[in-house]
Amino acid sequence: MALTVVTQKVRGFICTNAHPAGCARSVERQIESVLAARPANATGPKNALVIGSSTGYGLASRIALAWGFGAKTLGVFFEKEPSGKRTGTAGYYHSAALHARARADGLFAEGINGDAFSEEIKREAAARIRAEMGQVDAVIYSLASPRRVNPRSGETLQSALKPIGASYSGKTIDLGNNEVKMTSVEPATDDEIRQTVGVMGGEDWRWWIEMLLEEGLLAEGARTLAYSYVGPELTWPIYRDGTIGAAKKDLAKTADALNDLLAHRLGGGAWVSVNKAVVTQASAAIPVVPLYISLLFKVMKAKGVHEGCIEQLQRLCFEHLADGKTPRVDADRLIRLDDWEMREDVQRETMALWPQVDTENLDQLSDYEGFRKDFNQLFGFEIDGVDYEAEVETEAAL
Ligand code: NAD
Repeated sequence: MALTVVTQKVRGFICTNAHPAGCARSVERQIESVLAARPANATGPKNALVIGSSTGYGLASRIALAWGFGAKTLGVFFEKEPSGKRTGTAGYYHSAALHARARADGLFAEGINGDAFSEEIKREAAARIRAEMGQVDAVIYSLASPRRVNPRSGETLQSALKPIGASYSGKTIDLGNNEVKMTSVEPATDDEIRQTVGVMGGEDWRWWIEMLLEEGLLAEGARTLAYSYVGPELTWPIYRDGTIGAAKKDLAKTADALNDLLAHRLGGGAWVSVNKAVVTQASAAIPVVPLYISLLFKVMKAKGVHEGCIEQLQRLCFEHLADGKTPRVDADRLIRLDDWEMREDVQRETMALWPQVDTENLDQLSDYEGFRKDFNQLFGFEIDGVDYEAEVETEAAL
């Protein structure tokens, strides 16, 4: 037992604690959203492995598969558990709440808390799938990490968020003091590009799928998906054409190779889904992106086409992954869940705001308030219906 009042502690673009009741409520809200959106008698994947399942797009994937289709889910995540009065991380509480609600609803949901890049966690996942699920028919790969220890070479790879070829200057929000200012980022070295591709590219995804295939743990017709982002031209120097974009190109190449392999061996497939920009721990760390997101949200909310992770995943599950559906793709074989973000009118209006926005008019021209609220909610704060004055139990079992 560790009862305490949890007050948010923020440093720049990270929050160093999390609210257990707020995180649990946030999982509940996503479950409610899926149950309301679920078409009658929806069926889809029955046994899913979700790698990176505790926050952001991975958490939403897990919830949409479990409550949308009744799928058994095994989640893999890397989160800190609570210790004494120090809270666990948000993903820890999300996972604990998800497991508890799944038990109450008679759904199978198990988790592995450890480094998904390691051989040890891959072996543990394989053993759990064999013992508890038999085989999996869906594998979602949704890791976002600043580093990876390559288990075969022992090298620690660090990802960088940098442009390639030339330095980049652009507007950004300083999340520490809410100022709109110019930032400039020096171009990446060849080694930084290599390391970013090593962390966020397709190698680890491929190793997971090859391992599962070799172990006979992928069911006939098994499908696997990883996530990417494209965004508007304004962010390309730092995103699409930068180090992270190089990693995403590698991810897409990996999808094509895995697609051939799975189609040939199991009649299955592999895809990359390009998702819309949302506030997550990963995206808040990218220069320029929080300002772009704040302007984009203003425009998308005004048009009634705003979506968060769970709404995106509902579309992915019910329109692309349900039984009888084949993922719809563009000319590059990418699923485009960012279609509403990239709509001509949405982009035109967002881009018209870009040159005008500054510190003084930030709240008026953009939805920075919405960005901040989403950011706080990632950690279980500012969630309706939660009493932040009350003591909460910070211990929680997975
Ligand atoms: P996130 O930070 O919310 O989630 C990352 C997940 O990875 C967490 O569950 C975390 O526990 C897990 N993780 C990190 N390192 C791990 C490790 N070593 N072992 C096990 N688990 C580990 O990130 P997100 O924004 O949801 O990103 C997920 C994917 O979606 C990424 O590929 C990202 O590029 C993509 N994407 C994000 C956005 C966006 O706007 N956030 C948009 C499009 C695509």
